[in-house]
Amino acid sequence: MAIKLYDSLTRELRELHPAQPAGVFTFYNCGPTVYAPAHIGNFRTFVVNDVLRRLLELEFGAANVKHVRNLTDVDDKTIKRARDEGRSLTEVTKRWTDKFHADCAALNCLPPHEEPRAADPKHLREQVNMIECLLDKGNAYRTADGSVYFKVSSFPGYGRLSRVKERELQPGAALKTLAADADEKEDGSDFALWKAWKPDDGPNKWPGPKGAAEGRPGWHIECSAMSKSILGATIDLHSGGVDLLFPHHENEIAQSECCNGTTFARHWYHSEHLLVDGKKMSKSLGNLYTLDDLATKGFSPMAVRYALLSGHPRKQLNFTLDSLHAAESALHTLRAYRATLPDAGVTHDVFAPVLAALQEDLNTPAALGALFTIVNRKDGQADTASFDRILLALGLVLAPNPRRISAPAEIQAIADRRWAAKLAKDFATADALRKELAAGGWSMLDRKDGFSLEPAKK
Ligand code: AMP
Ligand code: ZN
Repeated sequence: MAIKLYDSLTRELRELHPAQPAGVFTFYNCGPTVYAPAHIGNFRTFVVNDVLRRLLELEFGAANVKHVRNLTDVDDKTIKRARDEGRSLTEVTKRWTDKFHADCAALNCLPPHEEPRAADPKHLREQVNMIECLLDKGNAYRTADGSVYFKVSSFPGYGRLSRVKERELQPGAALKTLAADADEKEDGSDFALWKAWKPDDGPNKWPGPKGAAEGRPGWHIECSAMSKSILGATIDLHSGGVDLLFPHHENEIAQSECCNGTTFARHWYHSEHLLVDGKKMSKSLGNLYTLDDLATKGFSPMAVRYALLSGHPRKQLNFTLDSLHAAESALHTLRAYRATLPDAGVTHDVFAPVLAALQEDLNTPAALGALFTIVNRKDGQADTASFDRILLALGLVLAPNPRRISAPAEIQAIADRRWAAKLAKDFATADALRKELAAGGWSMLDRKDGFSLEPAKK
């Protein structure tokens, strides 16, 4: 059965297939800005995309899926953070990249196959090249200060994704209020491709496109340039949180399609926000929780993952601590259930309805519902092999409750990854991670239904 997923551009459920039959399916997911810890709102988007990645791998085979997620490591926020802390931009972004990776591991999110950084010299050159392409084709112009802007009126397709025209607004009018980087633009809707250096940018500047000043790329160009360099001019699936639909993704389409002269993404997927008391969880509202905040309240990262999957990804989800209590208890039930199962021997796949729910527009709450219907039936139709396959698709790891484990978060994260590798029968990775644990002074004791961590004997 094929995966059906809502496409934000055509506004309908469409089957996912690679452009070439039996070709590699290419998947680009906009990544984090690395200047602070990501909050669990951000992680709702990344966890949902992780289940999508796992589903794609089941559908097309792991070797036939290529997943790219970028790191935004140069923009106003990262530069400001470096300036405020008196550190280099690289120091700051490396620190928060490492933290992001540790949190992703704790949430059992598979690392993307490639994770390009906007400030990587190779990718900076690609961004400059793309801007020069847009200048040559008349889709961009330089301003007196040496910045470069995209000329929105030069791209008739602008607004197709976000329907700005259907909302009976001039694109310019709709965008004017959102455009903070306004000074010398010809039209309020135009957006920056290259930002000329300003004293606030400190040492962070690079050679610009021809005829432009030294400076740095605008945010939108990084995804257009890096997805092209790694995945090609047309990608099969592009995703992100719903706040990126406009203007970020609209701008990515404009840049890529004007430069490459071909469709940028064949399918667009946007997941909805995590809310707190009815408002989007965000740094600016100060209503956020990080994984560490929740760990100090005694909640495991796996409970957070479960809670984030308990709502339909295309509907807003209100976050509560009660949902984490419910998630811990659901994980406990699953763990106890697994211990009752025979290792193997059941011939038909009793968990097929769980997978079917995921294949129907990534309906994670329906999948969890179907899973619990089977668990509660206790009819002896399941075995651990089929149960573990479905846990793997959801990315759930049934380690014992980490509240009882005093290992530091980074050790716990390695242990979770090793357990996942073991369940996936990737023994080479599991062995390598066991060595990493030993180097950190911990040993991992495996049991049938999970593991525990103990300080390694000297
Ligand atoms: P950022 O680091 O701000 O670029 O955001 C990284 C990802 O998190 C983007 O895909 C955003 O759409 C997403 N995001 C931000 N806030 C939330 C939220 N409250 N709920 C779900 N996703 C979010
Ligand atoms: Zn992007």
